[in-house]
Amino acid sequence: MMQLDNLYQEVILDHYKNPQNKKLVLEYDAQVHHINPSCGDEITLNVSLDGQSIRNISWDGVGCSISQASVSILTDLLIGKTMEQAQEISDSFMHLMQSKGTEKGDENVLEDAVALAGVSQYPARIKCALLGWMAFKDASVQALAKK
Ligand code: ZN
Repeated sequence: MMQLDNLYQEVILDHYKNPQNKKLVLEYDAQVHHINPSCGDEITLNVSLDGQSIRNISWDGVGCSISQASVSILTDLLIGKTMEQAQEISDSFMHLMQSKGTEKGDENVLEDAVALAGVSQYPARIKCALLGWMAFKDASVQALAKK
């Protein structure tokens, strides 16, 4: 098991056990299916936009607690935000995942996602944490292209 701060471990397990928005909403602008073969994580993610704002993100998936908690946290963070805000939050999370454990993350921007900061020390697990974020990026680009 990874050595993560106990409080952060709890935040991750809470999202894993009580995932947010884990029920595919059938009305969407784009749907993507992303997998992380190195761990066996899989998610299907639906995005719907309202102009330049994110109306909804819903998902379903299987995999490790890091991958599933990360996408749950993402939906909490990004639903209702503008695409510009979502980009800033995503950039901040990507930066944190590349920090090799040297950064804690800005809680004002990343909220519960700072609980994943410790994952950046484990290169094999970074893909788990990023799975949902890459799926969202892919889906939002497709959704914007349809508008
Ligand atoms: Zn995983």
